[in-house]
Amino acid sequence: MSDLITLQQKMVSCRLCLDAGHQIIPGAVFRGRTTAQLLLIGQAPGVTEVEAKRPFNAGSGRRLFQWLGAAGWDEQTFRDTHYMTAVTKCYPGKHPNGKGDRVPSKPEQQLCRPYLDQEISLVNPRLILLVGKLAIQLFYPKSAKLVDMIGTAAYFSPDTLAKNPLNFDLKQAERTTYFRGETEGRYIVPLPHPSGASLWPNKPENKALIKQATNMLYEIREAWSL
Ligand code: SF4
Repeated sequence: MSDLITLQQKMVSCRLCLDAGHQIIPGAVFRGRTTAQLLLIGQAPGVTEVEAKRPFNAGSGRRLFQWLGAAGWDEQTFRDTHYMTAVTKCYPGKHPNGKGDRVPSKPEQQLCRPYLDQEISLVNPRLILLVGKLAIQLFYPKSAKLVDMIGTAAYFSPDTLAKNPLNFDLKQAERTTYFRGETEGRYIVPLPHPSGASLWPNKPENKALIKQATNMLYEIREAWSL
């Protein structure tokens, strides 16, 4: 059995958050194999994702796959080929105010982080997509604003990754707004949260930033045959 399958079995049966007293519904949602060259990180599954056992299953998936479609990916091929996971893998339940789902707490994120690190290490993707603020903040400073990040990418050279494949220190990455034709290394590209509850992607100036991001993804996908 591969190390990734062993890890995935561990995630499915994980009860760490419940044991620590956090109100989550256990049952990790993720999808993918070691052959994936692209790894997408979302925030946490919603209730329909848990029912369907499929990341980005419902409304936010529709918008996400519109963006990915603009970058040239067909939804089914993307789902079958690439790795989809989240900052926390289990459904956090409804927000106490009844509007939408609860954002996983810092302690929950910390409990789940070793799983994410192992997924990244075992899949070793060439391209990482960070979908939504929580995923973006895994790598970018908390103070960073979406307007300054969407439409940009961080590129880690093979030399940087050779020393540490889990190197996400942005000080050691090159920031860019376009694909510069590298043949190796790793790109990290942030995207906003595609939930219909978020108004950010609807503003014309932000639509232009999302277009810049999908244009860059189009170039990377074509050049790296992703
Ligand atoms: S969210 Fe992560 S750490 Fe918490 S129970 Fe689920 S798999 Fe385990």
